[in-house]
Amino acid sequence: MELLSSKKNHTDNSLIKVGSVTFGDGSLPIIAGPCTIESKEQLNSIAEAVKASGAQLIRAGAYKPRTSPYSFQGLGYDGLKLLSEAKKLVGLPTVSEIMDADMLAAFYDVDIIQVGAKNMQNFPLLKKLGTIDKPILLKRGAGNTIDELLLSAEYILQGGNQRVILCERGIRTFDAATRFTFDINAIPLLKQRTHLPVIADPSHGTGKSSLVTPVALAAVAAGADGLLVEVHTDPSSALCDGPQALTAEQFDSLVIGARKYEEIRRIY
Ligand code: PEP
Ligand code: MN
Repeated sequence: MELLSSKKNHTDNSLIKVGSVTFGDGSLPIIAGPCTIESKEQLNSIAEAVKASGAQLIRAGAYKPRTSPYSFQGLGYDGLKLLSEAKKLVGLPTVSEIMDADMLAAFYDVDIIQVGAKNMQNFPLLKKLGTIDKPILLKRGAGNTIDELLLSAEYILQGGNQRVILCERGIRTFDAATRFTFDINAIPLLKQRTHLPVIADPSHGTGKSSLVTPVALAAVAAGADGLLVEVHTDPSSALCDGPQALTAEQFDSLVIGARKYEEIRRIY
């Protein structure tokens, strides 16, 4: 059986428009922001900084799926309200992560709903997201295969929602030198197999800020339809994922480099 996501029956790439950007048309929308919303000041200052560097969407987590129940769990609904304010302030669309179908009403003002790696196989959630009229950013689970990622996307597509963006964010390997191992193969392979846009998250894919820009550029060269990058104005004080957060200045250099690779890849 051919999957709904397969390129065999749908040879043109799916174009997913959000605000003024399009995923899947050969351009490179850049999504950036803090791992988690900490305060109004923190979120607004990061949103303004990443916009100034050229980010086209703001991403920030309000509900955080933390490995330990003792870690900061996010500001929840209050965080989403701050994200709405930041959206008005900078005028960019937003992305935030959902963990449970019951949370959906709280996401009314979020432009793209992220399903994180840990929920890639939360099937009731995927089915629910298949019934809504909003793009879904589906991340690959750290222990999931490319086939499993495509089958998870199928749960959303099958419900009628055709706006699914896939995201490679690194997998767990034997090597503990980095937090995860960014699977660069996944980018061109998924692009060959599916018409859905495929973006790259080099922040979780490496876990180390010094590796984020080189891996981001590799992903752009490999054909990624977008980037998702964690940025913090003060990474050492971040409540979540500080070691992989770029400073505003580092993010600025990433965007300059990524735009150059975006230009170069037009020739192949
Ligand atoms: C995140 O995007 O902050 C996150 C929790 O990532 P992942 O789901 O890829 O672990
Ligand atoms: Mn994070």
